[in-house]
Amino acid sequence: MNGLCDEGPKVARINEALCIGCTRCFKICPTDAILGSAKHMHVVFADACTACGKCEAVCPTECIYLEPVQPTLQTWVWSQPAL
Ligand code: SF4
Ligand code: SF4
Repeated sequence: MNGLCDEGPKVARINEALCIGCTRCFKICPTDAILGSAKHMHVVFADACTACGKCEAVCPTECIYLEPVQPTLQTWVWSQPAL
């Protein structure tokens, strides 16, 4: 494997138990995919998340992480065979 390997689609998730409502992720998200208000738990609107990772980088409690999107019957594809 090289560093350019596509790991597939991902989406940001928030461990709600660790969120302190600091709003840093909310302010930095370029697609407004994070919902929440000061001192309240924040959540990610998955359909708007592009997995850019900016929120993960600014969270002071490290409660945001990027998680692989599980394929559905609509998105599942055959993997390309090795040549
Ligand atoms: S990964 Fe990027 S697009 Fe997704 S919620 Fe975080 S900042 Fe927003
Ligand atoms: S940056 Fe982290 S602690 Fe702050 S609101 Fe977002 S998820 Fe919660």
